[in-house]
Amino acid sequence: MLPVEVKIEDLIRLELVTADEAIGSHKKIAKRLQREGIVKSYRTSSGLFMLEQNEGRDCYFLDKKTRLCSVYEKRPGVCREFPKTIGPRPGFCPYIPQAPKRPLR
Ligand code: SF4
Repeated sequence: MLPVEVKIEDLIRLELVTADEAIGSHKKIAKRLQREGIVKSYRTSSGLFMLEQNEGRDCYFLDKKTRLCSVYEKRPGVCREFPKTIGPRPGFCPYIPQAPKRPLR
């Protein structure tokens, strides 16, 4: 799975960053999230945060057992847009080529 890059708005939606905190230094936010093992890196030029990956290069938010997205309702914008082929199937991660047949919940 490719590393997932998210915007500050995504981190707010994921409740990892408060709106107040987002007004301040994004580098500082990145350092905190790196310490917490959620973010791998931050690019100042694009303002994008790269999420950490779990074993097998899975997305940090992919449930290891179900292989479904654990934050589907709050998932980052990039996951909502890519790839279009899977369509709006609740719970499924669009980055997983062979998604399980059973949706989350
Ligand atoms: S849909 Fe969920 S599991 Fe898949 S890449 Fe996005 S956040 Fe990660």
